[in-house]
Amino acid sequence: MQTTVFQNYIDGEWRRAEGQQFENLNPATGEVVCRFVKGSAGDIAAAAAAAGGAFPAWSTLNAPARGAILFKAAEILESRFDEVAADMTREEGKTLPEAKGEVRRAINIFRYFGGEGSRLNGMLVPSERDRVHMFALRKPVGVVGLITPWNFPSAIPAWKLAPALVCGNTVVLKPASAAPLSAWHLVNALHGAGIPKGVVNFVAGPGGELGRALVEAAPLKAISFTGSCQIGNWLHAEASKRRLRIQLEMGGKNPTIVLADADFNAAVENTVNAAFFSTGQKCTATSRAIVEDSVYDRFLEAVVERTRRLKVGDGMQPGIDIGPCVDRAQMETVLRYIDMGRKEAGEPKIGGRRLTDGDLAKGYFVEPTVFADVTPEMTIAREEIFGPVLAVMRARDFEDAMRIANDIPFGLSASIQTTNLSRVFEFVYRMEAGLLTVNLPSAGVEYQLPFGGTKESSFGPKEQGPAALDFYSDYKTVYLKY
Ligand code: NAP
Repeated sequence: MQTTVFQNYIDGEWRRAEGQQFENLNPATGEVVCRFVKGSAGDIAAAAAAAGGAFPAWSTLNAPARGAILFKAAEILESRFDEVAADMTREEGKTLPEAKGEVRRAINIFRYFGGEGSRLNGMLVPSERDRVHMFALRKPVGVVGLITPWNFPSAIPAWKLAPALVCGNTVVLKPASAAPLSAWHLVNALHGAGIPKGVVNFVAGPGGELGRALVEAAPLKAISFTGSCQIGNWLHAEASKRRLRIQLEMGGKNPTIVLADADFNAAVENTVNAAFFSTGQKCTATSRAIVEDSVYDRFLEAVVERTRRLKVGDGMQPGIDIGPCVDRAQMETVLRYIDMGRKEAGEPKIGGRRLTDGDLAKGYFVEPTVFADVTPEMTIAREEIFGPVLAVMRARDFEDAMRIANDIPFGLSASIQTTNLSRVFEFVYRMEAGLLTVNLPSAGVEYQLPFGGTKESSFGPKEQGPAALDFYSDYKTVYLKY
């Protein structure tokens, strides 16, 4: 069967499928989902030049008209909802219900920022001087490079594209090579919605080559990146040589603190959900459960029993809870950490193997794995694994749990399970993380409030909600005597 070849989108045109291509593989079955034209440094330069050329007209188009294009693109995505969600499951591996949830979120994000076109609030304050009118306007930044990871292949490109565009910027989007099709659908919807040529450009291909070309592209004014700390830190160093504005959302090692007074069953459910759904490949996933001593043994047993009931398999099949790792390299990383965990903490209480029975052998499936009695200095308690691996750790009491939770270079998300209001507030004020949940899983955020971490997890202004505008626009302050 002929596989479709998807093209790059530069200056309002789908560039012909010539030159090298790369395969987009289904991590559950090994099948080729589609092929993409492999973009080059030259394509990035052409895309950045097109974005530069489109900037004057797009940035001066009135903001509600820019928002209207986002509304129209949301409608197009809505009309292709099932196809876009199924493509996400096929290329990334998450279950179909999770993929549908993510496409819904991308549509909502387009609508939310479409509405922002009618607000884009600046500031208006009274002057100390008579008959002086003073205000600050939001102005776009210019050409923005967007680099996105594979784990939320639709939502993350959506939450960068939508605020960037509504503020009046033009963009070059470089999606993750492991899952470019979901981002392609967003760009295709914007194309169908009539976005003027050059405003959005899409170049898929190898991150090393394209990333360097992007950071060096003369028209570029800013970069928004989501991905690993290693690449983010490199980008930061390169971008600062040119004083590019930069926003980095990176790794985490997120804790869920479980106190003795918690609603026990909810705490178990929330921890298992946050640790294993989406195969633990959420940046906000729980990878450390820090449990108060008096409930530790009972909690561990219950988590293991709940984990035993999770069904692992192809996310296209009904009833599956956990899909595969996104690719072979990611699976091997996870298995390497599990081996490290065995040496450090002993045999896991459940899981710990690749699954190869029957059709599972064709994919990259790893059993949801729970290690017990993990201590803070162990590698599996300190490094991001990005897979279905949970480290359960014992804490003497609340204070000890807080100490363990904060004793980490990362600060993305954190959760507490408790019914004690004082401890909730202690946690809210003292936990060193950008996203906190209380009696909910550590993962599972919405788009209406700021998103992002602290410490080594993040750098620059937050994404999503009204905060997103702070990265994608700049103030121009005006003093006017009348
Ligand atoms: P990654 O390897 O850092 O890749 C992210 C993106 O960067 C991909 O598009 C990749 O392209 C590109 N890239 C690779 N090398 C580059 C270079 N030298 N210069 C510029 N771009 C380059 O991360 P990932 O494996 O896709 O995603 C997993 C990581 O993302 C985890 O650490 C996770 O915690 C983090 N994440 C964080 C958040 C958050 O909001 N904090 C959200 C989601 C994920 P290729 O795909 O072609 O290599």
